[in-house]
Amino acid sequence: MLRAQNALRELPGRLRVAFATRALPTLMPILRGFGRVAADLVFPPACLNCRQATDVAGSLCAACWAKVRFIERPFCERLGTPFAADLGAEGLLSPEAVANPPVYARARAVAGFEDGPVRQLLHKLKYSDRMELAKPLGAWMARAGAELLVDADLLVPIPLHPRRLIERRFNQANALAQAVSAASGVSADPFVLIRVKPTASQVGLSRPQRALNLQGAFRVPDEMAGQVEGRAIVLVDDVMTTGATLNAAARALLRAKAKRVDVLVFALVA
Ligand SMILES: [Zn+2]
Repeated sequence: MLRAQNALRELPGRLRVAFATRALPTLMPILRGFGRVAADLVFPPACLNCRQATDVAGSLCAACWAKVRFIERPFCERLGTPFAADLGAEGLLSPEAVANPPVYARARAVAGFEDGPVRQLLHKLKYSDRMELAKPLGAWMARAGAELLVDADLLVPIPLHPRRLIERRFNQANALAQAVSAASGVSADPFVLIRVKPTASQVGLSRPQRALNLQGAFRVPDEMAGQVEGRAIVLVDDVMTTGATLNAAARALLRAKAKRVDVLVFALVA
């Protein structure tokens, strides 16, 4: 009698254990699936740019996707700029890269910077505090820059001048570098390079004027020298226009004895 009562008392406990060890692992994916369906009903996946409903979260709708000019091979191995025609040879350089070789070794970008979704996405990331955009944009950058990241030691975002950072409270280059880091496993450090000169707007300046404007703009602080010396570094920014800013930053890193400096941006002004 007593034994039977004990057995009964134990039964719910045993059932609970059986449920936890056997049924729960089987049920979890189903429950999680329900959770995802429920989340999709409340927050259906939307286009990152125009918020139209999409099939996949963290992506673009078909209409926005079609307007993005993704950069694919063939492109200039140094500048990352696409070639109009496939010339059928690997390792090709553009005439621009031969005439004005950049300070950095290689640049890669996801897409061309032009009116449409690319400009809108980067503008939203930069000015309207849509910081959640950094993660999907950074994942795209990690894919476009895979050959730079495979043997990179460190990601370094283009820094803002401290005064500008206080005004804006947010450095989109750092947000993108953190997202590229999460997607690639290469660590990112926003303190390796500092902007010591508050540079005026580059708009309307000629190439030599831009270079002069940026002279001495970046510096590796003495206490960070050990982070740079002998290391393969990938500089990260949202957009590359003439490359003057990225060249100036690369020069500061090379002066601090970086082994190699490459450049990874989301968009390239053709
Ligand atoms: Zn869209």
